[in-house]
Amino acid sequence: MGPPGVGKGTQAAQMQALLGVPHVSTGNILRVAIQQEGSPLGAEVRKFVESGRLVPDGLMGDLIAERLERKDARDGFILDGFPRTLEQVAILDGVLGRLGMALDRVLMLKVPESEIVRRLSGRRTCPACGTVFHLESRPPAVAGVCDACGAKLIQRPDDTEQVIRERMKVYAEQTLPVAEAYGSRGLLIEIDGFGEVDAVRSRLSTGLERV
Ligand SMILES: [Zn+2]
Repeated sequence: MGPPGVGKGTQAAQMQALLGVPHVSTGNILRVAIQQEGSPLGAEVRKFVESGRLVPDGLMGDLIAERLERKDARDGFILDGFPRTLEQVAILDGVLGRLGMALDRVLMLKVPESEIVRRLSGRRTCPACGTVFHLESRPPAVAGVCDACGAKLIQRPDDTEQVIRERMKVYAEQTLPVAEAYGSRGLLIEIDGFGEVDAVRSRLSTGLERV
């Protein structure tokens, strides 16, 4: 868990390599589902995404269940991007219960809001291939141009300061209760997410060992 821009995806990908269990991100699940021709769940997801509507929690739960049932998740998984609300916590509880699985830990990355704004507002995305750059930490070789495919980079509306502050507010309102819920189950570990990727990763590993 953690606010937008805290580095959840980056860290989850590293933990995947470290722990040998798949990184299950809701963003990825949705992308894959949409690409699957002939899949009933995929067709359902496409309806929502193409009309710009949010995928309902129940459908997201079905997609997560389908993903966790696969062989590579049998010995564990890292879930990223879900649950973000108390309603989604209940849905995940249901999914895990049906599959006979349980969460071992909930790791929450914490970073000051000013740092989040700095990180996200510097982000530039390639609309053609999806590669993400950063004006400070990962600038493209030629300003404004994608290294991978040569397309012109854009700043996603989500990455402007005003929208970032709004998302932080939503995060605080919806997701902090989720942290409290997992805290009361004794699963929550808070990790300082400030600093270099390697330093944060090592704090996450230490956090995992601590319990
Ligand atoms: Zn590109």
